[in-house]
Amino acid sequence: MTTTALTHIASLVTNDPSLGNGTPLGLIQDAAVVIEGDRIVWTGESSKAPATDNVLDAAGRAVIPGFVDSHSHLVFAGDRTQEFNARMSGQPYRAGGIRTTVAATRAATDEELSANVARYLAEALRQGTTTFETKSGYGLTVEDEARALRIAGRHTDEVTYLGAHIVSPDYADDPAGYVDLVTGPMLEACAPHARWIDVFCEQGAFDGDQARAILTAGLAEGLHPRVHANQLSYGPGVQLAVELDAASADHCTHLTDADVDALGQGNTVATLLPGAEFSTRATWPDARRLLDAGATVALSTDCNPGSSFTSSMPFCVALAVRDMGMTPDEAIWSATAGGAAALRRTDIGRITPGARADLVLLDAPSHVHLAYRPGVPLVSAVWRSGQRVV
Ligand SMILES: [Zn+2]
Repeated sequence: MTTTALTHIASLVTNDPSLGNGTPLGLIQDAAVVIEGDRIVWTGESSKAPATDNVLDAAGRAVIPGFVDSHSHLVFAGDRTQEFNARMSGQPYRAGGIRTTVAATRAATDEELSANVARYLAEALRQGTTTFETKSGYGLTVEDEARALRIAGRHTDEVTYLGAHIVSPDYADDPAGYVDLVTGPMLEACAPHARWIDVFCEQGAFDGDQARAILTAGLAEGLHPRVHANQLSYGPGVQLAVELDAASADHCTHLTDADVDALGQGNTVATLLPGAEFSTRATWPDARRLLDAGATVALSTDCNPGSSFTSSMPFCVALAVRDMGMTPDEAIWSATAGGAAALRRTDIGRITPGARADLVLLDAPSHVHLAYRPGVPLVSAVWRSGQRVV
């Protein structure tokens, strides 16, 4: 198989603390990476790189692992420009706006939905995202949820069943009946097409008992839980996520000390989604508090047309550093290795031998520039599974 070396990398983020400067980022200065097929086979100092078939000179620029966006909602149609505009004119955000997207998504064809996913994925790839998770949740019927998951599965392996996004408008007077549907016929139709099950545990969506019933039913069908937890208010979501060993509790904006302790001690990753707070002018989640308690923190876009219509991980990194108390190193780790942890993956989010060859070449000498130069398109080249895709 052909080998390719990327040499003279000014600063390489490996996410292996045993390498380089010994920090969690495992930074190596004047580094090289060797790719063979879809894998990384060698990482180290440029002067010690083995001979390879091809050599690419990074010319003093930085390389980081491809971003792992572990939370998005890309199977949708329509947009909610007017709702955003109204919110920025002073109206509050509530969970019910999802109904607008549900109506548009049900009315769209398979081709329209798939083209939409492809479009936002291409957008994300240009900004360095090489792995992404996406969810159903804008169909809310057996047919429409299963369809969303089939379409998502054409674009990624990380597919999440979110029939419990909100109570379907068709069941407005019978929320218990909707939970029966989500845990019964809808689950049966959706489970073959998903890896994960998720629930929006929130006032106006599903309470703790309903969320527990939904996640437990998913577990019995072989789906692993993740939870939209404690976004708009304090509630039982985080504790439930930790108790059920969910891979991730997402949002984590309103946390009690007990919630923070639970995340600090459990295996559940706290996934923070600053695009949502940005787009709803809400209070930022306190990443510092979680990190100081020992929690594993991931950063993700929550890309969706209602509350966070950004596909940009660099934007989320910049927000996390500016407004959530993260250092640039912590934010880069959370957007790469943290996202991998939130998907319980060890083959991505790091640049070490054996990992999938997902790399981002930055038009900057250091990863710190992603926060230092917010909004600037610094992604210069992207490799996914060893193939240069940008
Ligand atoms: Zn979400």
